[in-house]
Amino acid sequence: MRDMSEGISEALQKKILQRLSFYEDLGVRLFYRDRGVAPPGVSERAVAENPVAEIPATQSGQEISREEMALPKTTRKPEVPIGAVPAPRVASRIAPPISTSATPKAATFPMPSGPSLFEAVDKIPDDTLLKIRADLGECTRCKLHKTRNKIVFGDGSADARLVFVGEGPGHDEDVQGLPFVGRAGKLLTQMIEAMGLQRKDVYICNVVKCRPPENRLPEKDEVTPCSPFLLRQLDAINPKVIVCLGACAAQTLLETNRGISQFRGQWLEFRGRKLMATYHPAYLLRNPSAKAEVWKDLQKVMAVLGLESRKSKSADVGKSATPGKTS
Ligand code: URA
Repeated sequence: MRDMSEGISEALQKKILQRLSFYEDLGVRLFYRDRGVAPPGVSERAVAENPVAEIPATQSGQEISREEMALPKTTRKPEVPIGAVPAPRVASRIAPPISTSATPKAATFPMPSGPSLFEAVDKIPDDTLLKIRADLGECTRCKLHKTRNKIVFGDGSADARLVFVGEGPGHDEDVQGLPFVGRAGKLLTQMIEAMGLQRKDVYICNVVKCRPPENRLPEKDEVTPCSPFLLRQLDAINPKVIVCLGACAAQTLLETNRGISQFRGQWLEFRGRKLMATYHPAYLLRNPSAKAEVWKDLQKVMAVLGLESRKSKSADVGKSATPGKTS
């Protein structure tokens, strides 16, 4: 597809971007939904690491990221195509919205009709993060091992009451062996600090522990062998709340292909624990106006954890992450 920006002067391009940003702040975005979002098959990490990357066209000409599926729809659209989601999909476990009171009950999920990545797995008694890391070893269970630099197991407190689950390591994480240390990671750190916490108070991990090449979405044959380790991590830590950062984590843990907009900000349940799905920090880097929604989600998490809600923190979360710096 020919690049539409060819032949348009830099000054005009800048003006158009400013105007689009203005529309975006107003919540109007349907006519330029391809700007600044990852198309299907490209992860949020790709967008965060390469903010000026050209977004390739999809077969249908539509360029709708899984995060973008979260946006209000004016017309009926089909569900996310199965090929565009990262994990095996069985029956959705997402229950209808539940109470938004300060002490919400988590929704229960209908049992899936087919095999599940998670539900049938028994908790391993006395499991620890150290044992899980040892069992993972120098993993070669999927093809991601061929291209990774370092395994990104997870980072933070083994007793955390709050666990964040992202998609998979990006470039910076692959180099350092730590989750969320790039641009998106810096924003996540700001979000955690706005909640009155520090990174060492929470635990941060990903759906897959090795970087998918070019930051593409993790594939089914990568998510499946990695899932037991994520599950063991969650069981060993036994947090009160799991926050899924972005569609990949949410769709994987909830085993659904529904757009994240359909359940973002609602209390859901994952193996007896409260789960909240919110937008990925990389999405927020490109769509700063969505930060207010994420902050609302995090305030719900804070209420459940008994953390003091400090006013004006959404402004802190809204400060841009400095490119290149690590947390
Ligand atoms: N994005 C993710 O989903 N995970 C990371 O660790 C970093 C960026």
